[in-house]
Amino acid sequence: MNVALVSVGDELLCGDTVNTNAAWLGERLDERGVDVERATVVPDRVADIARVVNEYAAEYDSVIVTGGVGPTHDDVTMRGVAAAVGRSLETSEAALEWLAEHGGYARSDLTEGTGDIPAGSQPVHNTAGVAPGCVVENIYVLPGVPDEMKAMFESVRSAFTGDARHVEHVAVDEPESALLDRLAELQERFDVKVGSYPGESVRIKIEGTDEETVSAAIAWLEANSETV
Ligand code: ATP
Ligand code: MG
Repeated sequence: MNVALVSVGDELLCGDTVNTNAAWLGERLDERGVDVERATVVPDRVADIARVVNEYAAEYDSVIVTGGVGPTHDDVTMRGVAAAVGRSLETSEAALEWLAEHGGYARSDLTEGTGDIPAGSQPVHNTAGVAPGCVVENIYVLPGVPDEMKAMFESVRSAFTGDARHVEHVAVDEPESALLDRLAELQERFDVKVGSYPGESVRIKIEGTDEETVSAAIAWLEANSETV
């Protein structure tokens, strides 16, 4: 299964906020064996959200959109997602009932627009805040506040599955340029994906669906390089 992430927010683009949501989701999805193939940041602008979400929904198995959910003036994600799927926005009775029951909010307590999601979509209840997310077609919309996003991902995460992966790392104390031939040979000998991340030493990440193959690849690299 492959997934695209769309992070909405002007504050992410100008660097006021670091996009920890995409990193956190990337890690959660990766450990579930799901391939994250895009992570795109877009401004709080309906047309931009609609264009990117529409494209990714067609291209990938699922799209997860975070941020800009809620009724304040700069929160336009639901409008963008509704436009992406050609639907109008509708107040979700189920979302408002859930808020009344679990949050103790009467309708009159809530800001106008709370509970508005694309017509016919499923609300995702906000167990750590107020504004709901939603699932529409293959698009999952979650809030931007990291604690809310994390709590709500729990309720949808079973939808994200892939082949279990085995991952191992080796730190090599040689320049990356010296390793090129051996990394190429490693890929030829073993059915694994190899990542090379230079820093003080070169961190080699080896992953594959078969645990024994990953272990054998690691053992071969350790036998053929200066490991730390
Ligand atoms: P709520 O309805 O609860 O206000 P929201 O979906 O409207 O949630 P935003 O307005 O987008 O959320 O952002 C709320 C807070 O979460 C801001 O402080 C913002 O900087 C932070 N935030 C938003 N997106 C991200 C992200 N991708 N990574 C980390 N923090 C984020
Ligand atoms: Mg906001």
